[in-house]
Amino acid sequence: MEGKITILGCGSALPTFQNSPAGQILNLSDKAFLIDCGEGTQLKMRQLGIKTARLYNIFISHLHGDHCFGLIGLLTTFDMMGRTQPLHIYAHPDLEKLMRPLMEYHLQNMKYEVLFHAINPRKRETIFEDRTVSVETIPLKHKVPCCGFLFLEHHRRKNAETGEFYIETRKRYAYCSDTMYREQITEQIEGVDLLFHETTFTEKWADRCKPTMHSTARQAALIAQKAKVAKLLIGHFSSREDDHSIFLKEAQTVFLNTILAEEKMTLEF
Ligand SMILES: [Zn+2]
Ligand SMILES: [Zn+2]
Repeated sequence: MEGKITILGCGSALPTFQNSPAGQILNLSDKAFLIDCGEGTQLKMRQLGIKTARLYNIFISHLHGDHCFGLIGLLTTFDMMGRTQPLHIYAHPDLEKLMRPLMEYHLQNMKYEVLFHAINPRKRETIFEDRTVSVETIPLKHKVPCCGFLFLEHHRRKNAETGEFYIETRKRYAYCSDTMYREQITEQIEGVDLLFHETTFTEKWADRCKPTMHSTARQAALIAQKAKVAKLLIGHFSSREDDHSIFLKEAQTVFLNTILAEEKMTLEF
């Protein structure tokens, strides 16, 4: 079965007419996972006709607003739509501290449960596991604690000769946003089917990478090349650049199999 990623937002901190902040829906093994939830995420899902009744798990990379300001709106909409199924949110422990007062104020008679799962972004560990999908954190380097997520689709198979069961990994998707160039991650994401890596800047603005702790398109491509991934998807574009083809050109000089994220696009891998 194919994995499928849908881009809900591929801008960075400052929303523009062209781009919304971070948000993606990953479909893997017939399940949907929401990765980051910037402002506008729920509207994009509605525009695309994405059914949210079967969305049970949300993964938040870090607590900068462009990755989580859409959450309270989404939770409120779920309640208005009569949701009763529990919702799991995986994030830095501070997210629960920020969200609980908002939920107590705005969602007093909520009819569904929200379960916050505290993750340690500095540590590589498995934070989600069901019969066919597991998710590992990818420690990143950013201004606040931040991690990416490595999604693995696997199936239990039986060896025809020995009768023993073994785990076969089928699809692998790595999401890496936001981060400075961090070569250490290449070992963990080696050979993934699809890597999303942030490219906030082009080399022209490379001096902005250090103070803001972001990457250039060239750096993202270097990570893809060193990790020998099958495909690279780039996004989290700075509002300084209107023409996103510059990001693509720059990345492709290093890693040809690069795809430019566009909002509402769906990519199979
Ligand atoms: Zn960001
Ligand atoms: Zn950030």
